[in-house]
Amino acid sequence: MIGTVYKSTGSWYTVKTDDGVFYDCRIKGKFRLKGIKSTNPIAVGDRVSFDLEKSGDETNATITEIKDRKNYIVRKSVNLSKQTHIIAANLDQVFLMITLNNPQTFTSFIDRFLVTAEAYGIPAVLLFNKIDSYDEDELLDVKYLAALYRSIGYTCVGISAKTGKNVDKVKEMMTGKISMFSGHSGVGKSTLVNTIDKELNIKTKEISEQHMQGQHTTTFAEMYDLDFGAQIIDTPGIRGFGIVDMEKEEIGDYFPEFFALKSECKFNNCLHIDEPKCAVKDALENDEVAWSRYKSYVQMITGEEENYRQDIYGD
Ligand code: GDP
Ligand code: ZN
Repeated sequence: MIGTVYKSTGSWYTVKTDDGVFYDCRIKGKFRLKGIKSTNPIAVGDRVSFDLEKSGDETNATITEIKDRKNYIVRKSVNLSKQTHIIAANLDQVFLMITLNNPQTFTSFIDRFLVTAEAYGIPAVLLFNKIDSYDEDELLDVKYLAALYRSIGYTCVGISAKTGKNVDKVKEMMTGKISMFSGHSGVGKSTLVNTIDKELNIKTKEISEQHMQGQHTTTFAEMYDLDFGAQIIDTPGIRGFGIVDMEKEEIGDYFPEFFALKSECKFNNCLHIDEPKCAVKDALENDEVAWSRYKSYVQMITGEEENYRQDIYGD
């Protein structure tokens, strides 16, 4: 049988078949040794094959194979730098929720998030939330930012999770896909999910209450079905988007507007810093590349790694 992992506790995996039946599966011992170096071999979102075996009154379900992942996001332990935990796999898109204030989302945070999404190969959508609460000047700021990121190729939508404004557009983008929501604490992620699906919120609450009562203090990602035919992956306690190990030389490739100009730079390994005849710097001088984007880029390659890590995790 084939299905998708909806929940993982580390020893049990809840798998949903394409016919909509849930099975609690275990993995074979040797499975743990295979694959990439991570603390967990299977993550929420994984497509797996599993066998059913009767023993007495019980039916045991055992996962026998993980299908190739189209992408996956990880969390790295900062202390044990070799330990990787796969948070989720096979995401169709990630929504970054942004607010101008309460809390403020800086462009450096947005840009780092987008670079990570590019490196993971996951399409990112920017949701500018709380537009019901902004004055005219703030709305102009949202318009400016949305126009900037649209010009680079990202879908941007101004929404109000509170009033429901443009939430239908978000639902439309989510339909038939697996999505994840990211952003600083307080930007309105829970409010949006609640506006999208009231029942789901109750469910999440129950689960977190169970968590409060004990057994597991570790939080695991979980996938939820929404009634209009969409899935979301909830990653409790992880508001950011993980990190990817990147070489200095490849960071520029994850700024799509820089990457598009790269072939016009004199040097094919141009870092767009102080090289002569750099197409990115020329475009910057001509206001064809945004200074905020270039600033984020320079910050990233001159790299205060620790700050970068904290930043990505938000909060
Ligand atoms: P989360 O930490 O990202 O899950 O944020 P919450 O959903 O808990 O929202 C944080 C606060 O922002 C709450 O007081 C919400 O009522 C408020 N909030 C969320 N969305 C909106 C919105 O669209 N407009 C306004 N004015 N407030 C909002
Ligand atoms: Zn260059």
